[in-house]
Amino acid sequence: MFDDSLLSHWQVAAPELFKRSMIATFYINPGKAEYQKFAARWEDELWKQGMVYGNHTMTHQGFADLEGAEREIGGCADIIRRIVPGPERRLLSFGKPGLPPGRWNISAQDFAALLRRHDLIDRPTFDKHGAVYHWQTTEQMLALADRAIAAQGMEYLIIHGVERIGPNVTWQDFWALKQDVFLPLLDGLQQRQAQHQLWITDHISQHQYQTERDSAELSVRSAADGALHIELTCRADPVLYRLPLTLLSTVPSTWREALVTQGERQTRAVVVDRMIRYDAIPGDGPIVVRPVG
Ligand SMILES: [Zn+2]
Repeated sequence: MFDDSLLSHWQVAAPELFKRSMIATFYINPGKAEYQKFAARWEDELWKQGMVYGNHTMTHQGFADLEGAEREIGGCADIIRRIVPGPERRLLSFGKPGLPPGRWNISAQDFAALLRRHDLIDRPTFDKHGAVYHWQTTEQMLALADRAIAAQGMEYLIIHGVERIGPNVTWQDFWALKQDVFLPLLDGLQQRQAQHQLWITDHISQHQYQTERDSAELSVRSAADGALHIELTCRADPVLYRLPLTLLSTVPSTWREALVTQGERQTRAVVVDRMIRYDAIPGDGPIVVRPVG
């Protein structure tokens, strides 16, 4: 996660992520001067590289009342949904900006209602997850990833600036993470992803996957006629939660490859140790798995 729509995000972070086929969530403030000066980068560049935008409020300045909260939070959500094409209703990640006392004048109840109204999901806490602030070395940050792998769970790191290097660089972004820490961190993450230990994604995809998986129910309707007929459902709202889950099925020992059909989607899966691995969307119709050939 990268906060505050800083220069180093489009100058260093996004290009280095893109080079490695990795993505991140960028929490933007479309009302801040440094965003507006380089709005074209955010409007035409980063999301096209696969980067995902999170809502960090319009100006990062907080608000005095509920009306101000609507402008700050709702306004940022509207801009993200205008910049990035997609379904009218879709989830966005929300990251509350750090503010001095008295600048977040809204009750917990009103805040929760505001998040719901704009289909926003509050991200997990900054506590113990801040680069530079809590963690300084590549090893410490990779330890977060290794903890997620060990727990088969989720971990994240919140970064502000990344060091900018060049003859014309005269100042650094807030809490700039040194490149000789940042680049080996990306390499270490990429290596874990290449070994299929880690899924590197944005906050909303992780949230969708976990929400769907936690309430998923799967049943094999029949295994007659040489095919598996599977039903997969979950309790999440199908409008906002449509991310495919990964399924593993055991198939007869004579199968070498399987054809998986759900609705109009068809994929092939190679059998390894009598198992196939494939994607399916909960509540999107019956899944049929049959052998190829
Ligand atoms: Zn911030």
